[in-house]
Amino acid sequence: MALRKILTDGNPTLNKMCRPVTSFDDRLATLIDDMKETVVQANGVGLAAPQVGVLRRVVVVDLGDEIVELVNPRILEESGEQDGLEGCLSVPGRFGMVKRPNLVKIEAQDRHGDWYEYEGEELIARCFCHELEHLDGHLYTEKAYRMLTEEEYEALMKQNREEDE
Ligand SMILES: [Zn+2]
Repeated sequence: MALRKILTDGNPTLNKMCRPVTSFDDRLATLIDDMKETVVQANGVGLAAPQVGVLRRVVVVDLGDEIVELVNPRILEESGEQDGLEGCLSVPGRFGMVKRPNLVKIEAQDRHGDWYEYEGEELIARCFCHELEHLDGHLYTEKAYRMLTEEEYEALMKQNREEDE
C-alpha cells in the first residue's frame, strides 16, 4: 500500500468525467488499498479516485466501523433534507454550507465486481452525494449556497481544537 497525492482545486483532472471500471484486476485492488490508506492519513470521511488523479468511478467512504469501497456507485434512492457544513480534501482550508438529502441509498461493486447496497444517513448520506459528484467532475463548492469567511473558518478550527483537548 502507498499514500497517493491528493489533487487540489484548480487541477483540471478534478473537473473531468470518470469512466466506469470494467476490469476488476490487481491494479484496481492496489488503487482501492492506496485510497483507503490515503483517506485515513488525511483524516477524511471519503475520497474519490479523481482526487488522486485516476479518472475511474471508484470511491472509498469511512462508515465509522469500516471503510467501504464503492466501484461504479449509483444512487438508488434519496429522501429528506439536511443543511450543513461541508469540506473536501481537494479544497483545503475551506468549508461551505450545502443542502443534501438526509438519507441516501446506493449500490456499488466491490473490487471483485460483486454488487452491494448501502444506506447512509446524515454525514454518510452527505458523503455519498459529495463523493459521487466527484466522479462526474463536480466539487461541492459549486453547490454551496455560502462559503465560510476566513473569520468563521478560524473560529470553527479553534472550536474543534478545544473539543479535541
Ligand atoms: Zn471532495
